[in-house]
Amino acid sequence: MRAYRAGPLALATLAVLAAGCGGEAAPVAQKLVSPTATQSPTARPLAGKTVVIDPGHNGGNASHPKEINRQVDVITGRKPCNTTGTETDDGYPEHAFTWDVAGKMKPILEKMGAKVVLTRPNDKGVGPCVTERAAIGNEARADAVVSIHGDGAAPRGHGFHVIMPGLLPGHNDDVVKPSRRLGRDIRDAYRAGTGMPYATYTADDGLQTRTDLGGLNLSKRPAVFIECGNMRNEGDAAKMSDGGFRERMAAALADGLRRYLT
Ligand code: ZN
Repeated sequence: MRAYRAGPLALATLAVLAAGCGGEAAPVAQKLVSPTATQSPTARPLAGKTVVIDPGHNGGNASHPKEINRQVDVITGRKPCNTTGTETDDGYPEHAFTWDVAGKMKPILEKMGAKVVLTRPNDKGVGPCVTERAAIGNEARADAVVSIHGDGAAPRGHGFHVIMPGLLPGHNDDVVKPSRRLGRDIRDAYRAGTGMPYATYTADDGLQTRTDLGGLNLSKRPAVFIECGNMRNEGDAAKMSDGGFRERMAAALADGLRRYLT
C-alpha cells in the first residue's frame, strides 16, 4: 500500500487550485485527500506491533541427531534442543507444514501493518533449539508469539488445540495472563476460520496449559503453541496436506492475532 501523504504545502496548493475551479472545489479537494484517510489505523490495525512466528521443528533436524538431542534447560527440566516432529501417513512432514503455514501468515500480518519475525530462515536447517526460539521472541520484544505445530497423536483423535504457558513463579508471572487471552483469541479465530473442531483426544474446549515446553517456559512475551490438527488422523492429514486449506489456517491464525492485538 502506498503511503501517500499530502504535506501542508501540497494541501495549500490544492486549495488554491481547487478554488480556481469554482463549484468543483470541495469534491476535488476531498478526492485528492482521501488516500490519506485510507492509511488510518483500521487499514493497518497492527501498525507498530511485532509478531514472532515460530514454525516448529526444521527440515535438517532428522539428519543431525547429535545437535538436536543436545539437552537444554527449560526451567522445569532438561529437554532435547529440538525434535524432528511428526508426519502424515503419506509422509508429509510437520516441519514442512509449519514452515508453509508460517510463510502464508507473514504477508497477511504485514499487510495489517505488523512487523513479523520468523524463528528460522528456511526449512532446510537444523534447530534452532527451543531456548533460542524463545530468545528470538524476547529479543524482538514481540507483542505476541505463536508457535505452529501439527500433532502426532493416536489416529482416531482429531481436531486442534492451543497450548498456553502455566505459571512458573519468578519466571513468567507477567505473561501468563496475556498468554491466556492470546490463546483464547487464537482458538476462537482458528475454530471460526477453519471450521475444525476442538481436539477430541486432549485439552478442554481446545485449550491446554503446560509447563514442560521450553518455547513457552522461557518466553518473556505473551506466547502460545497451536497444534493445528492431528497429522496421524486421516481427515486432519488431508486438510493439513492441502495448500488451499493451509491458506485458511494461516488467515485464521492471523485473524486471531489481530483480535488479540487490537
Ligand atoms: Zn511439533
